[in-house]
Amino acid sequence: MKILITGGAGFIGSHLCKFYLERGNEVWCIDNLSTGDIENIEELFKNPDFKFLKKDLINLDIDKLPTDFDFIIHLASPASPSDYFKYPVETLKVNSIGTEKMLLLALRCDAKFLFSSTSEVYGDPLIPVQNEEYWGNVNPVGERSPYDEGKRFGEAITMAYKRKYNVNTRIVRIFNTYGPKMRIDDGRVIPNFICQAIRNLPITIYGDGEQTRSFCYIDDLVDGIARIMEKDYHLPINLGNPEEFSILQLAKIIKELTSSDSPIVFKPPLPDDPKRRKPDITKAQKILGWKPKISLEEGLKKTITYFERKLK
Ligand code: UDP
Repeated sequence: MKILITGGAGFIGSHLCKFYLERGNEVWCIDNLSTGDIENIEELFKNPDFKFLKKDLINLDIDKLPTDFDFIIHLASPASPSDYFKYPVETLKVNSIGTEKMLLLALRCDAKFLFSSTSEVYGDPLIPVQNEEYWGNVNPVGERSPYDEGKRFGEAITMAYKRKYNVNTRIVRIFNTYGPKMRIDDGRVIPNFICQAIRNLPITIYGDGEQTRSFCYIDDLVDGIARIMEKDYHLPINLGNPEEFSILQLAKIIKELTSSDSPIVFKPPLPDDPKRRKPDITKAQKILGWKPKISLEEGLKKTITYFERKLK
């Protein structure tokens, strides 16, 4: 198969490129490297079936691309709060203009298309466990809105192309995912805490640390995405690990796993920071036969090993 992965040099994208290359596919990766990292895909250049285009989807001329892709997996977007605070306009554009371009290409290629959405579409949820029927609680003009509303638009246009042009679409709502190849400076909680702990620097909790997240290891997510590409299911589906932890609990676990002397310090909360996040994965279990296999402790150990090597 011939597969296009946008955002393929990012954290999730680079794992997916590797996954599909290892299974004998031709993989095209498009990335503008604004938040992705060429180091994530360096090892893939040895494989002649890997093609890399350093391009921004917003200005990309899709007439210059092949018309025989089998899958188009559209991940390109800043995804960490600190990144989308820095690139708000680009985040809105890649999820709107960029998504429409990839849908048009999918229509032209008769390809299966996947839009990578996010748990952020639920905003600061008013229900403790979020299922796909929940419409969310999003501040449309807050600092997180370029990401939240960009992804909501992306979902809407994906469904519109499905309904109007019968593009073979899929939508996954990805909850917090972590693992090797996250950027050290990506600003998200797991790389921040691990790097702070390894360096014995203060572990910085934004707010009181009572906010919760549910962390999915990258290999489980890749497995979920690969499964949905093989299914004929077009409505949004949550992919995440339903085990919920407070951020304070997470800080303590990472401190212990790294045998760190770092103090835990409290900083002001981020704007509109969701207080609770926990996916209902009943749908993924029923439709994809999927559930995460890797515990937080096991996944954190692998991630800590990766960051220890990087920081040497
Ligand atoms: N967070 C924190 N300290 C950090 C980075 C993040 O306390 O150094 C908190 C952040 O405020 C949020 C949670 O950890 O409540 C998860 O943040 P992250 O940026 O990883 O992802 P989000 O789920 O907010 O998209």
